[in-house]
Amino acid sequence: MSSNPQYEPVIGLEVHAQLLTESKAFCRCSTSFGDEPNSNVCPVCLGLPGVLPVLNMNVVEFVLRMGLATHCTIAERSIFARKNYFYPDLPKGYQISQYEEPICTGGFVEIETESGKKKKIGITRIHMEEDAGKSIHDLDVDTLVDVNRCGVPLIEIVSEPDLRSPREAYLFLHKIRQIVTYLDICDGNMEEGSLRCDANVSVRRKMETRFGTKTEVKNLNSFRFVEKALEYEIGRQIALLEEGQKIVQETLLWDAAQGVAVPMRSKEEAHDYRYFPEPDLVPVMVGKDWIDKIRTSLPEFPSERHDRYIAKLGLPKYDAEILTAEKPLADYFEAVIRHLKVKNAETWKIASNWTMTEVLRVVNERHITVTGFPVGPERFAEMINLIVDGTISGKIAKDVFEEMLTSQEGPKAIVEKKGLVQVNDASTIENAIDNILTKYEGQVREFLGGKQKVFGFLVGETMKVMKGRANPSIVNEILKKKLEGKKERD
Ligand code: ADP
Ligand code: MG
Ligand code: ZN
Repeated sequence: MSSNPQYEPVIGLEVHAQLLTESKAFCRCSTSFGDEPNSNVCPVCLGLPGVLPVLNMNVVEFVLRMGLATHCTIAERSIFARKNYFYPDLPKGYQISQYEEPICTGGFVEIETESGKKKKIGITRIHMEEDAGKSIHDLDVDTLVDVNRCGVPLIEIVSEPDLRSPREAYLFLHKIRQIVTYLDICDGNMEEGSLRCDANVSVRRKMETRFGTKTEVKNLNSFRFVEKALEYEIGRQIALLEEGQKIVQETLLWDAAQGVAVPMRSKEEAHDYRYFPEPDLVPVMVGKDWIDKIRTSLPEFPSERHDRYIAKLGLPKYDAEILTAEKPLADYFEAVIRHLKVKNAETWKIASNWTMTEVLRVVNERHITVTGFPVGPERFAEMINLIVDGTISGKIAKDVFEEMLTSQEGPKAIVEKKGLVQVNDASTIENAIDNILTKYEGQVREFLGGKQKVFGFLVGETMKVMKGRANPSIVNEILKKKLEGKKERD
């Protein structure tokens, strides 16, 4: 349904990112996640009378990083507003947010669509606000309230309605996550709620220039749900229009278990937040010097890194994409190549292969992050150095790698202890090959008779008698020479 070619979906996302500041937005309470309920609170974040909020300047610093990274205009002066509503987990009765004068406006991010084309998605605004607490409903008797999260700083990133498919929405959200994690301002964890997204969607007939009536889907706590919920909602809207009905502007909740979006409130029931300027806080003034300082301290972005890996390191696009997808992995890879002795494309490719296959395999198997990977980049690079200088073969390196996962020892020590040094001595290898050629006379004849496959067999047997330690390229070379010699004699 959602792929009905007569209709075009129009999507805009509102993304909330919880900031990684140590203390809350307007008080000194800790933002630490998972602490004893109601332990990180004070009169300010509890909204007790007679106290005043004081803005944590790291919040401004973080939103500015995001604003600059997404090419926004930074307001020299912006103000906070009160967003009033009642909810048990909001003891103040209002949230401090920004409304009419947000700090960042008019930016964009670039996504790469499935056809490989780059597309700019407009960022309407990015503003600062504080989070509410948490109500825990899934208990038999009571609803419990934990207000630790009250006052934890968030930024809200509002996109223009520039997205045209659930896939694009997914890619946009991924891009946002990639940027906030590269900037180190949010951990990007959707399951834990550090990154949250509401999706606004409407459909219109192709060629129609006006937008249709939109609905908003909330409660999307995974990337997959964003895509699924949008597919569902687009299908529902198209079906209604096909029946000649109208779309009602409403807010829906995604029910992941049932795979449906259920109505939460209609436009008539929409909250009237009675926004007004927050009288307890002075306007946020951002000078040019501050902006310049932040601009120059911004890290290299994923897309820049990606392009540099291709242009400067000579890596394939595929490698560059995988290595830069997550900042911790890219940082790890950078550290590895800094410790490589030989600095050329061939060595970088070896490091890339090992990082993409072995490091990621272990990280995925163990459900850990690269940051928690037991082999640090320096030790890992030493192992690559041993491959590159011919001390060990790639095959031996696999054993060394396994050993490093459980021990603190360096690869050199492991190689020596286990006697894994690669045999590069031509005469030792030649000896082994001579024995093999005698042992498998019949197979050698088959090879000379044209059966090419036998070559691999002979290499394998030679490696076997040499316990995998022979330098494979020397084995190949000598074996080839010997067999050619036999051919000529035939
Ligand atoms: P509201 O006032 O209902 O919150 P906004 O204008 O603030 O609406 O827009 C909220 C989000 O909805 C933005 O991400 C915007 O891009 C998106 N949006 C606005 N109009 C439409 C539409 N007709 N169809 C889909 N998305 C829309
Ligand atoms: Mg809105
Ligand atoms: Zn507090």
